Amino acid sequence: MKAASAARSILTTLHEVMASRTHAQAKLNQVVEVIGEALDSEVCTIYLLRDGMLELYATRGLNQASVHVTRLGVGEGLTGTIAQNIETLNLDEAATHPEFQYRPETGEEKFHSFAGVPIVRRERAIGVLTVQHVEPRKYEEVEIEALQTVAMVLAELINNAGLVDDEDIGGPAEARTGQERIEGLKLVKGLAIGQAVFHQPRVQIEQTVAEDTEAERERVYLAFDRMREQIDAMTGQAEFGTGGEHEQVLATYKMFAYDEGWSRRINEAIDSGLTAEAAIERVQQRTRMRMREISDPLLQDRMHDLEDLANRLIRIVSGQLGTAAQKGLAHDTILVAKNLGPAELLEYDKRRLKGVVLEEGSLTAHVVIVARAMGVPVVGRIRNVRGMVREGDEVLVDGDSGCVTLRPGQGVLSAFEARFARAKEKKAAYAKLRDIEPFTRDGERIEVMMNAGLRDDVGMLSMTGADGIGLYRTEFQFLVSAALPSRERQARLYRDVLDAAKGKKVIFRTVDIGGDKALPYLANEVGKEDENPAMGWRALRLALERKGLMKSQARALLEGCAGRELNVMFPMVSEPWEFDAAKKVFEEQLDFLRKRKHQLPSAIRYGVMLEVPSLAETLDQLLPRLSFISIGTNDLTQFLFAADRANPMLAERYDWLSPAILRFLDRVVKNCVGMPVDLGVCGEMGGRRLEALALIGLGIRRLSITPAAVGQIKELVRKVDTKEISEAMIGWLASPPENMREALQAWALERGIEVE
Ligand code: PEP
Ligand code: MG
Repeated sequence: MKAASAARSILTTLHEVMASRTHAQAKLNQVVEVIGEALDSEVCTIYLLRDGMLELYATRGLNQASVHVTRLGVGEGLTGTIAQNIETLNLDEAATHPEFQYRPETGEEKFHSFAGVPIVRRERAIGVLTVQHVEPRKYEEVEIEALQTVAMVLAELINNAGLVDDEDIGGPAEARTGQERIEGLKLVKGLAIGQAVFHQPRVQIEQTVAEDTEAERERVYLAFDRMREQIDAMTGQAEFGTGGEHEQVLATYKMFAYDEGWSRRINEAIDSGLTAEAAIERVQQRTRMRMREISDPLLQDRMHDLEDLANRLIRIVSGQLGTAAQKGLAHDTILVAKNLGPAELLEYDKRRLKGVVLEEGSLTAHVVIVARAMGVPVVGRIRNVRGMVREGDEVLVDGDSGCVTLRPGQGVLSAFEARFARAKEKKAAYAKLRDIEPFTRDGERIEVMMNAGLRDDVGMLSMTGADGIGLYRTEFQFLVSAALPSRERQARLYRDVLDAAKGKKVIFRTVDIGGDKALPYLANEVGKEDENPAMGWRALRLALERKGLMKSQARALLEGCAGRELNVMFPMVSEPWEFDAAKKVFEEQLDFLRKRKHQLPSAIRYGVMLEVPSLAETLDQLLPRLSFISIGTNDLTQFLFAADRANPMLAERYDWLSPAILRFLDRVVKNCVGMPVDLGVCGEMGGRRLEALALIGLGIRRLSITPAAVGQIKELVRKVDTKEISEAMIGWLASPPENMREALQAWALERGIEVE
């Protein structure tokens, strides 16, 4: 039995049950019979949420005496687990599940197999629908799908009959007052203040069962046409027309909008008897469930794009079109949303949109990339924020520390405003240093470069006055693309970056992908299954084996830098031969272009990142072959301390200003003395004042840092005397003080050097 026909036969009968004039309880009694019969299940039971507990409301097959008697907490037993996690369970032997609990009054001991699905309204479980069978057997996928479809229809019936109180559902209605501070995830830096505006009131699907299937199909077709027109129009907008990452973001978007598989699945859901709105939501539910099983953050980001489109489609089909963007923003706004699509964000008036708070969100999400380019601070991962804030409430967004304050009191407000003003003042002071070269007090020139990865970042070069781009993370282009970027596309980006850099040096790092930065289109590679991705099949390790990828990037870099100097750097080099192998790929491509009389780069400088400690042990062999070396302290520290850089539990455990790191770096610096290599640091460490001071003390003369920190590091450089700090550093390294950070801090303050 196909899923559509299984569900359809149940829905047809259910439709009659729902239309009948009987009492709600009688309807539920009929429903369990209909489902039990259709799925050939001895037991079918409905639990509904009442006073915070799941109460057995109707059953076929269990003891009738347990109706309205058996009650389970959310999270208790199999049924409670389904409600808590909003997940489906399908077990051939229920008793083997760790959460299994036996309720004697139900008489369920003789049933072995068990399947249950949540009944969901407003994204919360309001009940659970279960089936059970004597024989141990797993329910087939089509049967589970039918159950899920029926659960959707049941949600409507339950709502119409008023069987579950709004209080039990919870949600945005809760009126809260008073200040609340919530920690979230820093996604885009900056401070913002404004009134909360919900991006979109969720469309409530009022009717799930179709009266006329063909009419529903027609509605969906029309809605698809309209949605595609909207997306096409957006792609044509000036902002997207100029190329760059936005273009690629929208390309992914467009790919979903035109995805035949998606529209086919919606069509099949309509075949099962659902209305257009319910069919779209049903398909989306299924996709969400699948995605929950996949932990790849990149795929989850793409899922948000699809959610964005599905919501848009439901709004079009139901005629409930307005998002807050269409209504227009009346004042300075903090946009509040579960998640947003990049295109949706761009629909807002940029003068009024000050900040964004998301319930979800991750650093590589498209919307975050776009917000960063727009300069709008974003804090994410604030669960149920839509339940805690009401439209019009004042909200403070602090993207620097990753927290949000709802309805701030006067004290917080004044402190925030003072910080805001200070940040502005500082920014203005740093901006004044833009055209001033950073010399130390004793006349040493420190190169202050910036890190970049997106085309739009390059604009920061002239805004900050950085000396160039010391780390261009080329993998960003790959991360925001739906498919492997073509060689031409890569070359175009590199050419554009050099154009925008207007003669300043740019160091291109070849792709650092694989492991945790796995790309969907490189799926099924070993790297995806790495248990320890940071130490896995990543960066150059992957690139050297995926010769096609490496060759095409090498050609693109050589072509993109034709007539100009190419600075290329390889990530995660662990042994010298890896550098040789990577360089060989470039030299072969160079030869190829030379033979065909293509224009070549005016010079090529090869370098490596020092981020794997083993490389420090072979510098004597490697250095003579290099033009430059850049220390990647982000990875280096995680490998030196064996502490995952992405693990928040370890984020503050080890200090960059620890003797272990500083002595390690000191050794590297000494190994480079007298060698014809440029040495620099390109990890986050260099963008912090005290750490930058220590690095200068160790003899580092080139820092490549996040653009936002360029101004303050330039300002710091001008206050430092290199001889003084290196003398102090020699002393500290020989006999480390109890707390290196405090020692350095005191030293700086004595000399009037601000440390924050
Ligand atoms: C580093 O590891 O320090 C570095 C700069 O590279 P990434 O952060 O891209 O790994
Ligand atoms: Mg690194």
